[in-house]
Amino acid sequence: MTAFTLRDGAMHAEDVPLATIAQEVGTPVYVYSRRMLEERATAFRTAVAGLGAPLVAFAVKANPNLAVLRVLAAQGLGADVVSGGELRRALAAGVPPASIIFSGVGKTSAELGEAMAAGIGQLNIESVEEAEEVSALAQVAGTRVPCALRVNPDVDAGTHDKITTGRADSKFGVLLRHAPQAYAQLAALPGLHVRGLAVHIGSQLTGLEPLEHAFARVGTLLAALRDAGHTITHVDLGGGLGVPYRPGDTVPSLAAYAAMVARVTQGWNVQLLFEPGRIIAAEAGVLLTRVIRVKRGLAHPFLVVDAGMNDLARPALYGAWHAFEAVQPTGGRMRANIVGPICESGDTFATERDTDALRSGDLAVFRTAGAYGATMASSYNSRGFVPEVLVDGDRYAVVAQRIAPDTIMNAECVPDWLPEAARG
Ligand SMILES: *Cc1c(COP(=O)(O)O)cnc(C)c1O
Repeated sequence: MTAFTLRDGAMHAEDVPLATIAQEVGTPVYVYSRRMLEERATAFRTAVAGLGAPLVAFAVKANPNLAVLRVLAAQGLGADVVSGGELRRALAAGVPPASIIFSGVGKTSAELGEAMAAGIGQLNIESVEEAEEVSALAQVAGTRVPCALRVNPDVDAGTHDKITTGRADSKFGVLLRHAPQAYAQLAALPGLHVRGLAVHIGSQLTGLEPLEHAFARVGTLLAALRDAGHTITHVDLGGGLGVPYRPGDTVPSLAAYAAMVARVTQGWNVQLLFEPGRIIAAEAGVLLTRVIRVKRGLAHPFLVVDAGMNDLARPALYGAWHAFEAVQPTGGRMRANIVGPICESGDTFATERDTDALRSGDLAVFRTAGAYGATMASSYNSRGFVPEVLVDGDRYAVVAQRIAPDTIMNAECVPDWLPEAARG
């Protein structure tokens, strides 16, 4: 099911015509569906409900918009954060601190202090070095921080290199062979309540095998740690489930994922934690864009749209494929290269794409842009940041205002000791 469908020949977000949003808010603009966010959150929670009472913590980096976080928090999702900025967003959206997990390989002492002061539910520690710093800070603050040790299971997730995180050469977590010693070191540190393990092997996984492999290795480690006398009450299985971006993409169902987890974690006797990001938000959003002009090309025309790689980075960054569809399709088709206005050839969304016939001024969407879309935007080419809109039935609200290039320019200063421009 999708919330972005054609009605009387025009694409709507739920009950709102996208043309209305384009006219009133301008383009490019990210448009999210509240209903779809809720549906995905419910689907995930329902799928894993049989696995005890797991904490499902939305990976905030996938879509950190405050209104989106509010929608998900109301569905009972916690938050997995990877920076002080994301922590503050989760708290501002009303996520209970106990339902917040803090992950990441480079948490600064300021960020760790903030997390402790907020009383977050779990700190996923990525190294013994980090644990020692946490211990020192916790002792000063007079607290005991619930922690898990993130392990690197040395499993290739089979996804794009840039979003693979569980291979032995990755910067994330502690190698399995180092984990027993690291766990003992953590357990001996004052100020830490070391209660379990965490694993996350990558994103946009289209098969369950790498996950099953990784979880099985965590299970072996879990048993060894218990044999060594450690108490383990929590295991965080991370995120990573993929979504279909192009027709024909196959991804595991939530039911199959939950069944696999049930099988592998049988007898673990722990509380499970999950950190889904993409699978919750990706399909709940589109990037609405307008065709600036259609330019003659070598073999195919260039459809130059007003969204660029700075607004939606995934195609330039990962060679990612996003479905591209007209908001008011005529039935005609064309083959085109779809590009943005940025002065870089990487600013290409699609080459030789068979697409709806479009002309200058027409509206179109990039689908499946609700995760790793707006959140990865930059102001490259001094383009500012595009607004975000949340649709709810027949109403909508701007949930992130456009940040104009001038606002960014105004944050810069030229020292008065620099000379004026030379004349003549
Ligand atoms: C990015 C990330 C996630 C979410 O990954 P998805 O593929 O979006 O589900 C979960 N946990 C950690 C530690 C992450 O870095």
